[in-house]
Amino acid sequence: MSGPTVAVLGGGQLGRMLALAGIPLGLRFRFLDPSPDATAGRVGHLVVAPLDDESGLSEVVEGADVATYEWEGVPAASASFLEARLPVHPGPRALEVAQDRLAEKRCFERLGIPIPPFAPVDDEDGLRAAVREIGLPAVLKTRRGGYDGKGQLVLRDPGEVPEAWSRLGGTPLLLEAHVPFDRELSVVAVRGRDGSTHCYPLVENHHREGILRLTLAPAPDLDRTLQERAEQAVRGLLEDLDHVGVMAVELFQQDGTLLANEMAPRVHNSGHWTIEGAATSQFENHLRAVLGWPLGSADALGASAMVNWIGAMPPAPAVLALEGTHLHDYEKAPRPGRKVGHATVTAPDPATVLRRLTGLAEGTGLDLAWLAPRTGAGERR
Ligand code: AMP
Repeated sequence: MSGPTVAVLGGGQLGRMLALAGIPLGLRFRFLDPSPDATAGRVGHLVVAPLDDESGLSEVVEGADVATYEWEGVPAASASFLEARLPVHPGPRALEVAQDRLAEKRCFERLGIPIPPFAPVDDEDGLRAAVREIGLPAVLKTRRGGYDGKGQLVLRDPGEVPEAWSRLGGTPLLLEAHVPFDRELSVVAVRGRDGSTHCYPLVENHHREGILRLTLAPAPDLDRTLQERAEQAVRGLLEDLDHVGVMAVELFQQDGTLLANEMAPRVHNSGHWTIEGAATSQFENHLRAVLGWPLGSADALGASAMVNWIGAMPPAPAVLALEGTHLHDYEKAPRPGRKVGHATVTAPDPATVLRRLTGLAEGTGLDLAWLAPRTGAGERR
């Protein structure tokens, strides 16, 4: 007999990896996605409809025991619509906060989580005023709908205001101080229905063109204070939002302090390493949480590095020839800038991970020169 059925709003790679973690536990999956090619359709039943379509929503939860989502862009109204029929985790509140950068920042502030100075911007004059208040350089972001560096630009000179407004304006914006960070980190945590919480170790992330390229886990040179501060921030958010499931918080480290950038109320790309690199993966823990099952340990098993394949996959044998390397192909059509898969390199210690990562780069043509300053060849963005 099979176990519970999980309905997932969104059928991308995150949904697919949820199913790949849940199938061994006897779970069944149903996905709702507007695309008939949604990759999660290969590992569960796919209902093709927009995420705000009531008949699609009703169909995807047929026979399901719990609903969750793999994308924070899911309309909060869809989560509310489903809540009348079955448990939905995380609840609509986390979506509302994560979908609006202003609400998110106010939530961080209210909980005493340090963030860069910011100002809301509604028109061109407002942008000028925000530039005077925040100073330059600063990052102008759309309040809604931005991801992977889309919907944002860096302002360096007041003369750039009209052009910046014409590129992003017409929708509510937010200006925030540009942080000359030492590095980017993130923390992934999971909270169960009973409030129990586990935090994975902080990881170090490297982006290029706004897209995550590499995660080092645990973050090199991680000290206890940093981990404690990150855990305090994410635990505060989890409790405040009465969140059930996985949540990620992206952080900037600057001179030993942490500033929160944004949160994601879902499994996160910087947590993919946990599939092979942690005692329980973020995907399994998310499922355990939303089902009300006991959570698993979030301890790292050794050291890991996760590399995203952007645009196209490398030949599988070139990756698998390297010791300690695991390949994930999302079976998505190649397209520039698209995340089509990832590889995780594991080893007992960070030095071996870096050596294997260098081997992976050589074997696949991956350019580490900009990707990984820690390999000795790169540079900071
Ligand atoms: P976001 O969409 O907010 O996650 O931003 C994407 C990437 O842009 C981040 O991972 C950073 O690399 C960079 N970025 C965003 N906000 C700032 C900031 N205030 N200061 C410096 N870099 C930033």
